[in-house]
Amino acid sequence: MSGDIVITSYKEFLDFLNSLENKPKLLLHACCAPCSSHTILLLKKYFDITIFYSNDNIYPYSEYETRLNEIINFCKNFDINVLYDEYNEDDYNNKIKGLEHLGEKSNRCYMCYELRLEKTAIKAKKLGYDYFTTTLSISPYKVERWINEIGYNLENKYGVKYLYSNFKKDDGYKHSIELSKEYNLYRQDYCGCKYSLEERDIHDRAKEEN
Ligand code: SF4
Repeated sequence: MSGDIVITSYKEFLDFLNSLENKPKLLLHACCAPCSSHTILLLKKYFDITIFYSNDNIYPYSEYETRLNEIINFCKNFDINVLYDEYNEDDYNNKIKGLEHLGEKSNRCYMCYELRLEKTAIKAKKLGYDYFTTTLSISPYKVERWINEIGYNLENKYGVKYLYSNFKKDDGYKHSIELSKEYNLYRQDYCGCKYSLEERDIHDRAKEEN
């Protein structure tokens, strides 16, 4: 079953969406409500969507809870269920061990994507979903080539189909900002991990000093 279709461009992705019938079941990994907003509106016509919130990277725990509650509230607008797993900071720390000092879009982030996508693939397989994917690619700060490479590798590993992900296309990121305003969503100003929080603080301080 795995490796049936490998999509390599957004055009192929749109053609693929239009070829779908009977709304397959999609487990959609999401990191926050703003990133899921455009993605849900794009995909809900084609898929029976369940959100999966699996984000051991997020620091501190209060931020993890804030993002989770926001996504649950947002999904109520569309009658979409939200699943989430147990927060496990150690899983993230072990996964990125030795890479802590690297910045955003580095190998630290590759491992962080892989951790979350792998948990999603395992959950999708266990619960019998037809497809899994992630909202992560909507962010201009994320490398969609890595996300798709990881997704297709996991498809082969676990035997559950991966849906190509490049949701920043067609002004997806801009649309997510508009939707965040429309639905009054909480929008965080750092990616999620403690290192991105520190990077944000350094950036803010530098701005204040100039
Ligand atoms: S910057 Fe974002 S993607 Fe990169 S490791 Fe931190 S939380 Fe993960």
